[in-house]
Amino acid sequence: MATQKKRKKKNSPLPLATVAVFGAAALVTLIVYDHTPRSESMTVGENSAAVSELPAQTTVTTEGTAMLTTDTTTELTTTVTEATQPLPPGSVTDISLTFYSCALKVGGNRVMPIVTMTPETAPDKSEKWESSDPAVATVDGIGWITPVGAGKCTVKVTSVNNPAVFAEVVVSVTDPNAPVAASTVPIGGTAPAETAAPAESTPSGSSTTVNGRLEVKDGITYIDGIMIVNKTYSLPASYDPGALTPDADQAFAMLQKAAKIDGLTMNCVSGYRSYQAQDTLYHNYIARDGQAAADRFSARPGHSEHQTGLCLDVNYAGDAFHDTPEAKWLEENSWKYGFIIRYPKGKEDITGFKYESWHIRYVGTDYAKLIYESGLCLEEYFGIESKYAE
Ligand SMILES: [Zn+2]
Repeated sequence: MATQKKRKKKNSPLPLATVAVFGAAALVTLIVYDHTPRSESMTVGENSAAVSELPAQTTVTTEGTAMLTTDTTTELTTTVTEATQPLPPGSVTDISLTFYSCALKVGGNRVMPIVTMTPETAPDKSEKWESSDPAVATVDGIGWITPVGAGKCTVKVTSVNNPAVFAEVVVSVTDPNAPVAASTVPIGGTAPAETAAPAESTPSGSSTTVNGRLEVKDGITYIDGIMIVNKTYSLPASYDPGALTPDADQAFAMLQKAAKIDGLTMNCVSGYRSYQAQDTLYHNYIARDGQAAADRFSARPGHSEHQTGLCLDVNYAGDAFHDTPEAKWLEENSWKYGFIIRYPKGKEDITGFKYESWHIRYVGTDYAKLIYESGLCLEEYFGIESKYAE
């Protein structure tokens, strides 16, 4: 007697249902782990005559049993598959989030995962948010997660329309006042002396503090000393480090050394770029591709991270780099040297730029590790936007 299970539900951590078949007169037990109402189509064996007592189509919402009979010579195969026909109209069947874990700091920025409910046509897509431990992080009615105290908790969003459907974010909160764990020492080298990107040595002129730790100094935006440049935050045309900063340069040299040990060559093909060089580049792209297209892959002058002297393009700045061993290595290892993949895959709507596997940004080893482990892009990590004003 063979028993076979088939499952097509994706993202389901547990089987939809298990089926146990005992003996010739078999009792089929459905143990439903996921109580989301859905239609199930059940087929038992190839000899349908032998199982005529079992309904071919049944709606499964709770545990249940069904009796079926067969003769002793029939090989019995049981399959549970998800029905392909649509659910009753209006039911929310799935919730997905833009991230499922995040690392926050006490006193730091809040974050909000963006919720997508399926089907898109569901008339009631209202959300209910709750935190498993408000002493660690609280969540408001629309999903802003605010760090409160060191620890770990889970923030859950549930469909009001169908409370069986939910998604969760694992939230880790650290207290920056508590001692920081030693940062990873790279293979074949020592850790950079600077573990966080320093607030660049701009003379203290005009300084404004906006929104907690977001600070604007001489027209340059920082969060926790990390220079922020994207479609929302720009650099003045006069900001000109002239080259990669010594920290970024030194960190990249260490990255190159470590990659070499793994048999890979990493070259910087574009590092610092001046405001004027970006201006020329961007306008050339507009002439070639139009502004809408250019805005997806090239920054407007003042909005290019290359002007910071903290980022660089490795080997080849084009989609052909995505599938190379070097791209994979950068993805997995660049954080150890203080870099992040600045424009990750699937985050285009948040960073404002298409996936760039070759563009790495120096943020220092502490932040690189935190951001890498969070699975968030820089904008999500700091809870900021990247959108041109006009
Ligand atoms: Zn780049």
